[in-house]
Amino acid sequence: MSKFSKQIISKRFIILALIGGITFIGIRYYNISLWYILIAGIISGVVFGKVFCRWACPMGFIMELVMSLNPDNKLSQMYQYHKFGCPIAWISGYLNKISIFKIRLNLQTCKTCGLCDKQCYISTLEPTKYSLYKEDKLNPANTYTCSKCLKCVEVCPNESLKYKI
Ligand code: SF4
Ligand code: SF4
Repeated sequence: MSKFSKQIISKRFIILALIGGITFIGIRYYNISLWYILIAGIISGVVFGKVFCRWACPMGFIMELVMSLNPDNKLSQMYQYHKFGCPIAWISGYLNKISIFKIRLNLQTCKTCGLCDKQCYISTLEPTKYSLYKEDKLNPANTYTCSKCLKCVEVCPNESLKYKI
């Protein structure tokens, strides 16, 4: 992964705060209809999967902030929150299966270190069912609950996971 991509992922929370703040101001002070937000969520879902919650949603920002206060339960809370979410999350979650951009594994370079699974709330909480690199398990990145935090991509030491077309 390029240094630039890593920097973007490492700044995700700041990006969420900025875009989430702009979204909130648009809704609250400029009367932007929630229908436009829903349409934006669907279009971004078709292209990128369920990115809205972790990269652009004001409520997602607040929830993530609150969940950070209890680091011991953070993964479990993340899992529950992204399992239920809101109408945008419901629709874009299902689009994870068909989105144009996906998290893709290069089996040739994967060293099976397992770091990716440890970063992911889905494979951490349901290790018998999901894995980002084990071929006999389901890929958590394609499930409804994946919120495209891209932590798995960021942590892979040899760029075996890439978020790409
Ligand atoms: S972190 Fe990368 S190298 Fe390690 S298991 Fe995951 S994909 Fe393979
Ligand atoms: S982007 Fe990766 S680490 Fe984040 S929820 Fe999806 S599969 Fe898990």
